[in-house]
Amino acid sequence: MDVAERVAELRARGIVPGLTVVLVGDDPASAVYVGSKERTCIELGMHGETIRRPADITQEGLLAIIDQLNASSNVHGILVQMPLPKHIDSDEVVRRIRPDKDVDGFHPVNVGKLWIGERNGFAPCTPAGVLYMLQAHNVQTSGAQCVIVGRSNIVGKPMAALMVQPGVDSTVTVSHSRTRDLAEQTRRADILIVAAGRAEMVTADMIKPGAVVIDVGMNRIADPSKKSGSRLVGDVAFEAARGVASLITPVPGGVGKMTIAMLMANTVRAAAQSSQREQSAS
Ligand code: NAP
Repeated sequence: MDVAERVAELRARGIVPGLTVVLVGDDPASAVYVGSKERTCIELGMHGETIRRPADITQEGLLAIIDQLNASSNVHGILVQMPLPKHIDSDEVVRRIRPDKDVDGFHPVNVGKLWIGERNGFAPCTPAGVLYMLQAHNVQTSGAQCVIVGRSNIVGKPMAALMVQPGVDSTVTVSHSRTRDLAEQTRRADILIVAAGRAEMVTADMIKPGAVVIDVGMNRIADPSKKSGSRLVGDVAFEAARGVASLITPVPGGVGKMTIAMLMANTVRAAAQSSQREQSAS
């Protein structure tokens, strides 16, 4: 069942899945991401709300907002848009969100559930979207050599957890800036997932012919031919790589769209799980 159908089913039972995004400061890129999250919620018939606060909000002020959202029965998913201003302790903010409303999947409880395979937790949206995409395209993951470039808590590490879990069954290598001979690793990959944040660093000669290449990177580079003076590129040199790979995701328009879709799916599941808990408590 797709997300819109699940929303309709919940609404028929009087539950409107609700996502609240907290946006601190006026970073233009963050404002764009938050805007599209709110729009997608509304398109799907969900309740989407953004709480905007100035960059000089205190740690206590931000934690108080999280506490209110934790307590609200209309809010099923809470997302604090990163990055936060330097004076805010982001780890404390993430840990304050109730794990059952942490639809971003960054709370340590959800990170633990992901690694031990407990399915009622939430996986981070970008890696979950990548896995969904691979499965939707019938990519053979079982027994495949999957090489991930990047080991962040947002993408690389949870991606590894998802690819190695039983049922997905890839053999996973996680590489990073200290990896010796990166190209030697990437050339072994049947599935290459790149999340390094380095514009076009993976070149065609680093890709095994026929590999599936997922480009998570989003890098803005100068381009005087554009009206804006810049354009978005991935971590993979797309034009050359598409001649070598069997499947490859473009940037923009690839992984980014999946991230929002998975956020919506997590919020709908949070709403369904919350209604189940209420029913079993009554
Ligand atoms: P991050 O926290 O900066 O992590 C980057 C990782 O790449 C680090 O583990 C780093 O290694 C590794 N790395 C950097 N340079 C490398 C090199 N030359 N060789 C091998 N490894 C290298 O970034 P992130 O948050 O994971 O994001 C990665 C990219 O994905 C960014 O471009 C970001 O904008 C994009 N992104 C896109 C979406 C989406 O929805 N499409 C979502 C999230 C992120 P060390 O650990 O050794 O430093």
